[in-house]
Amino acid sequence: MIHIQKFTFNSIQENTYIVYSNELDAIIVDPGCYFKQEENQLEEFVLQNKLKIHAIINTHAHIDHVLGNQFCCSCFNVPLYLHSYDLELLKAVDSYAHLYGMEMYKTSPLPDYDLNGVKDLNFGTLYIKVIFGPGHSPGHVALYFSNENIVISGDILFKGSFGRVDLPGGDLDTLKNTIYTHFFSLPDQTKIYSGHGEETTIEVEKKNNYILQF
Ligand SMILES: [Zn+2]
Ligand SMILES: [Zn+2]
Repeated sequence: MIHIQKFTFNSIQENTYIVYSNELDAIIVDPGCYFKQEENQLEEFVLQNKLKIHAIINTHAHIDHVLGNQFCCSCFNVPLYLHSYDLELLKAVDSYAHLYGMEMYKTSPLPDYDLNGVKDLNFGTLYIKVIFGPGHSPGHVALYFSNENIVISGDILFKGSFGRVDLPGGDLDTLKNTIYTHFFSLPDQTKIYSGHGEETTIEVEKKNNYILQF
């Protein structure tokens, strides 16, 4: 059994997730903590629950999802995972952070592991299937916990909508293909934890998502 702890961080209101098992094996997905208070909140949760953090995983490298990379990698002394097709986006964050008023951005370390071609990840008692899902960004991945029917979707799919495709490397047809091929083929009851907003299910999105109008 796994547990999902959600935090909504930074001015872009990005969802940061800690996923952990009963045995306390844990990963942090898309650490968006920016303010000291947000870093403290994340760290306190880990300490209080005695979690063993194994890795930081970025679903993709937009600023709101990587703000806390530096803090988390050094605080917990763990490696960073990212798909290499998003590496240029990660390197570019420094150049545009000020445009979002995020001058305090601490430059992310470079990834230790490339998710390109990786289909499965295993951290102790956590088992993850990696879904390669470009369209919002070129190297976007989603994390599928198939035993529990849970997906952490990043900015591919939101409740009722989907990630914007007008940023560098974005493409509507590619995103449509990702959603139809890799998301709508999942079991109906699959729960989706998105990069922004509320949770939803595949069943609900197959009926209501805005992507159906394109
Ligand atoms: Zn994004
Ligand atoms: Zn985002």
